[in-house]
Formats: sequence, structure tokens, C-alpha cells
Amino acid sequence: MAISHDLNDRQARAGRNQSLFREINDRMRDLNEGFSVVTPDSGEWVCECADESCIELIRMSLSEYEAVRANPNRFFVKPDDEHLLPDVEQVVERTDRYWVVEKFGAGAEVAEQNARSRS
Ligand SMILES: [Zn+2]
Repeated sequence: MAISHDLNDRQARAGRNQSLFREINDRMRDLNEGFSVVTPDSGEWVCECADESCIELIRMSLSEYEAVRANPNRFFVKPDDEHLLPDVEQVVERTDRYWVVEKFGAGAEVAEQNARSRS
């Protein structure tokens, strides 16, 4: 069925984009760990929404970051509907600095595969 195939494509593409942002943030973690000597509770991360042109920065601590990262299917985005794709993900946690989203459908599979292939 064409519609569900399109949705599948959208979900998979969103999952791939977000996995790219996750790789960037993994590198930022090294930087942030260096900074955390000075500022233990803050770090700057790139928004992990499915929009590949998004360059919004999100402030969260290293432990907040690790908590999201512990689940390969979760990403964090700016707390704004513009950074949310309701047909590929759902918000599982809201703070005033970021939202945590969880992928479902094909996007979840892609996100989990990418997380595995990197380790
Ligand atoms: Zn974004």
C-alpha cells in the first residue's frame, strides 16, 4: 500500500538523520567532558530532530545526555513542535530545555541498527 510505504520511508529517513546527529553529539560528549571540569552541570548539544538542516543547540548536563543515550531509540530535540515529527516519534519526556522523543516503526529499527553497528 502506497501510503504505508511512504510512511515507512519517512520513518526510516528520520531515523537515519537522527542517527547522524547522534554521532555528532557523541563527539561533542568528548568536548563537553573536557568542559565539565569547569561547568559540571552544563553542556551543549545539537538538536537531534529529523530536520537535517537544524542546527539548534540544546543545553543539558552530561548525565542528562547519558540518560537519553542509554536507549538507542531515544533522541532529544528542542522543546517545540517544529522539531517533532508526530508520525515517526512520540514525546516521552518534556523539560523546558529539551524534549525526549522515542521513535516507532521503521525509524526505530534504523536507529537501533545504527547504534549497534557503531559499537
Ligand atoms: Zn531541531
